Amino acid sequence: MSALAGIKQMYPKNPIACEIKKTLLHFRNAERSVKFLWVPSHTGIAGNEEADEAAARAVTDSNSSHKFNHSDVKLLIKDHIIHRWQEKWNFSTSNFHEIMPQVTTTLNLPSHRKNQVVISRMRFGHSLLTHQHLFSNEEPPICPACNTSLTVKHILLECPRYETARRANHLQQSIQESMTSNVDSVLQFLKDTNLYYCI
Ligand SMILES: [Zn+2]
Repeated sequence: MSALAGIKQMYPKNPIACEIKKTLLHFRNAERSVKFLWVPSHTGIAGNEEADEAAARAVTDSNSSHKFNHSDVKLLIKDHIIHRWQEKWNFSTSNFHEIMPQVTTTLNLPSHRKNQVVISRMRFGHSLLTHQHLFSNEEPPICPACNTSLTVKHILLECPRYETARRANHLQQSIQESMTSNVDSVLQFLKDTNLYYCI
């Protein structure tokens, strides 16, 4: 899709997009039309699989004459870093890993300061409600409804006493999305359950 958007630009910076535009102009002058079709998942389509293989060869072949611009290289580096990050994250014992097994570079924060604090604490899995005992030297809190450890994961995903609010805010279907880009649903869940000021 981004490749099509690149070709659509009047003066694309990508050298490959420039070549494609030149070729399209050639076709237009010859009164031939070209149609582009974006296929969301191209597995099983022979032409697309050949294109994918050629693209993979171009990346790994040191003798390749393909030109890369800086945004291509940045994208490759970014993909590589995210891949390495995911490999390390897979072995993490962090509380946050249980809620978000997939790494992401799109962590949105709300604009309101109190909301920022609440969302950051939920992401780290550390809140007043679940970790205040560390300051008072008391035993870790237990959920009175389930008789199990009271953790951020338990509140967000497991505890049956919050099921209605969880469903109302669609947390079960999209907890990863809620904790990254759709933080308003988490904030509303905490307000609905009267936990907002305990975080
Ligand atoms: Zn519970």
